[in-house]
Amino acid sequence: MAEQPKPAPAPVAEAPAQAPPAEASAATAAAEAGDEGASTSKKAAKKAEAKAKKEAEKARRAAERAATAATSDAAAQAEDLAKDNYGQETDVTKYSPDAGHINLKTLGEESVGKTVTLRAWLQNSRMQGAKMVFAELREEGNWTIQAIAAANPEGAPVSRQMVKWIGAVNPESFVVVEGVIQKPLEPVKSCRVSNLELHITKCFVHAAAPTVLGLTFATANRPVTNFSDEEAKVEEGVEKLSIAPPGEATGVPAASMIAHLESIVMHKRAPVQQAIADIRAEVKQLFREYLRSLSFKDFEPPNLISAASEGGANVFRLPYFGQDAFLAQSPQFYKQIEIAGGRKRVFSIGPVFRAENSNTPRHMTEFTGLDLEMEIVKDYHEIMDTIEGLLLYIFRGIKERCSEEVELVRSVYPSEEFLVPEPGQSVLRLTFAEGQKLLREEGPEEFRNVSDDEDMSTPQEKALGALIRAKYKTDFFALDKFPEGARPFYAKEDPKNPKVTNAYDMFMRNQEILSGGQRINDPVELEARIRKKGVDPLSPGIKEYVDIFRQAGVPAHGGAGLGLDRVVAFYLNLPSVHLAAYYPRTPKRLTP
Ligand code: ATP
Repeated sequence: MAEQPKPAPAPVAEAPAQAPPAEASAATAAAEAGDEGASTSKKAAKKAEAKAKKEAEKARRAAERAATAATSDAAAQAEDLAKDNYGQETDVTKYSPDAGHINLKTLGEESVGKTVTLRAWLQNSRMQGAKMVFAELREEGNWTIQAIAAANPEGAPVSRQMVKWIGAVNPESFVVVEGVIQKPLEPVKSCRVSNLELHITKCFVHAAAPTVLGLTFATANRPVTNFSDEEAKVEEGVEKLSIAPPGEATGVPAASMIAHLESIVMHKRAPVQQAIADIRAEVKQLFREYLRSLSFKDFEPPNLISAASEGGANVFRLPYFGQDAFLAQSPQFYKQIEIAGGRKRVFSIGPVFRAENSNTPRHMTEFTGLDLEMEIVKDYHEIMDTIEGLLLYIFRGIKERCSEEVELVRSVYPSEEFLVPEPGQSVLRLTFAEGQKLLREEGPEEFRNVSDDEDMSTPQEKALGALIRAKYKTDFFALDKFPEGARPFYAKEDPKNPKVTNAYDMFMRNQEILSGGQRINDPVELEARIRKKGVDPLSPGIKEYVDIFRQAGVPAHGGAGLGLDRVVAFYLNLPSVHLAAYYPRTPKRLTP
């Protein structure tokens, strides 16, 4: 027969060893003293008696103390009248049925006096004596409210044990709290909901956070210090933190991008990251909204293709049922097929892959492309007009719809206002040659000899952008008529000057965000330009592309591709596009 477990002993306080009665010990001591001289033995007996009395008193007090502690402990445990109101518990029946659920974003004064429930993260807590605890509870973004649990003299609904327990909940644990909304005596400056507070009556941890977080909430909301993927990995992560430089000293360490991405959950919980994500979502919405209002139709190009789409070598190759497939480096050809297929105006939003070993703050191996393509009625400048209108709509839309988010981002990553033309004024448009002339004449010494026939380098773009900001008070401009040698084989040459193309780039805060232009729609002209570029028109992918224009007559058309991550990052002047992406992919990073 299996051994029966013994019932657990009742938690009683350990009793102290029984102290011997004081008199008995004195007698014993006297006896022990023997029969030396009468005075000596008397002295010894007295001494022993005093010692024994002292010991006995000590023992009595200890016993008393232990007994008191045991009773109050046991009483405390037995009498925690609030024990059903807290704990690690997900039982939904624990909440009052009439408690309405609140969201901090929409919480108003009409809720004062009402019993409510809130699902939130416990951001931090602070004990005030043994009877009261203050906690900051946070929902999405930076929506926080102060919550207070104060022990009631009757021990319910909140007991001292409950207060102590709430004070020990690990920060970033997910809690569901029930309580009464009250008006604080003074506005709570540290919380976004400053005019209301929650007086806790129940508090349950639904998911506990670990005692030590990989990245604390405060550090996650500090500016990222270093974007290198090369940083050496370290056990404790301490080396990945650096104390804020003096001047902006907050006492909170800031961390590298590696540390942020390794603690992706805390990285995402940071209000600054949520604000960036909200702005990003709004940019997509504005892009779609504007183009749809101009009768553009959306479509989905494939991402798996059989040949490098633009003939370039910067494509990811992957095994595909015994042959090779590639990840699309642009939806370009498919946008054109849509136009050839009878759509007048199309757009797409989707992933774009570049197998480029570019470890810069503006490159990723996967980014989100915002693409559009349209028929040309008279002149390709119609496309530029459309894109400029689109981007102004996006910039003004961010300002109007995301002012709080922008302000929040600026509190972490300071930036100057993004300058755009006043309503009614047109976007600054220079030709490539005019841009180079400006650089030669007014730019830094090293650009005195820049050529009109060669593409611009990144430092040239930055210098030109700075000149233009100072001179024209704008952070957004276009460069038109790129040199023939700087554009791919499908770019239409300017019929009046074949040294340049009907192709353009657009810039935000000195950096390229968009490339586009008119495409060749005549198969003979296309084939000739392909040959001129030194490419075989019969090579895989190219032949199929040229054939599109042979299948049926295709109207004149053009378009552009812009990077969503760059639009967001450059508008906010973030130090890297990696902050604007949800899960940045770089040559050295495929996780998380
Ligand atoms: P860059 O010269 O800056 O590398 P690109 O000329 O290769 O850019 P395009 O091929 O013209 O860029 O792509 C159109 C747009 O897509 C760019 O203007 C940019 O906004 C975005 N983009 C291109 N490559 C990347 C990348 N690696 N990471 C993030 N965005 C990119």
